[in-house]
Amino acid sequence: MRTPVSAGNWKMNLNVSQSISLVDEMIDQLDEINNVEKVLCPPFTSLYALKELTKHTSIKLGAQNMYYEDKGAYTGEISPTMIADLCEYVIVGHSERRQYFHESDASVNQKIIKAFESDLIPIFCVGESYEENNSGKTEDVISRQVTGGLMDIKPHPKLIIAYEPVWAIGTGKAATSQQANNTIHLIRNILSSIWNEESSTAIRILYGGSVTSANIAEFISQSEIDGTLIGGASLSASDFIGIVSQTAHIKNQP
Ligand code: PEP
Repeated sequence: MRTPVSAGNWKMNLNVSQSISLVDEMIDQLDEINNVEKVLCPPFTSLYALKELTKHTSIKLGAQNMYYEDKGAYTGEISPTMIADLCEYVIVGHSERRQYFHESDASVNQKIIKAFESDLIPIFCVGESYEENNSGKTEDVISRQVTGGLMDIKPHPKLIIAYEPVWAIGTGKAATSQQANNTIHLIRNILSSIWNEESSTAIRILYGGSVTSANIAEFISQSEIDGTLIGGASLSASDFIGIVSQTAHIKNQP
C-alpha cells in the first residue's frame, strides 16, 4: 500500500508573513486529515518560520530546489545541509528549473544522489514539453529523464517521482487522467528495468499540472497515481484542503 502524497509547490510566491498567514488558515483542517502525506514547499526564506509553526502537526515541509555541494564558493546557492534541518523533502528537476536555469539530467542526478546522502526525500520531476508530446516523443523523453536522473542510484523506496507534462503546468490545461495514468505506468516499467519490479511497485509517483480541487478526484481515482504535486492551487487554503481531503477520501476507500 503506497501512502498518498499531496505536495504544494508555492514557487516564487509569498514572503514570510504571507506564508505564515496561509499556513495559519489551513493548519487545523489539514492536520485533521489522516493517511495522506501533506507536504508544503514554500520559498527557502519561509522554511524556518513554517518549521516552527508546523512543529506539532502532521504537516511536512519541503524545499523547491538545492545545490549538490555541501558548502563553498557558490554565491547564491543553498546546500542540502542547510535545508536538511528545516525540511524533509526537496523538489528536484522541476521543469521551470530545467527551462530557466538550464538544469540537465546530469545535474538533477547529482542533486538526487546528494538529497539521499543528506536524508532528504527527493520529489524528482519529469515531463515532456508540448512539442515533444505533439511529435510522439513522450516515451523517449520520459525514459531519458528517468534513466539519466537515476543514473548510478540504487533502488531507494523513499524516492518520489512527479510526472508533470510541461504543457499542463500553470496553463489550466491538465492532462487527462487516463494520459497521466498511462505515462506513470510507463515510468513504473522504466523503474522495473533499471531497478526491479519490487521497487517500481513501491515508489510513489505523483501527477502534476493544473490540478485543482475541481479535477483532483479524476486523477486520484487512477490506480497508478499516488498523489499530486500542486502549484497554483496550493496557494489557496480552500483549494489545497479540498485536494488533500479528496485524496484521503478516495485513496482510503476499501
Ligand atoms: C507545479 O509547479 O509543479 C505545478 C504543477 O503547477 P500548477 O499546479 O500551477 O500547474
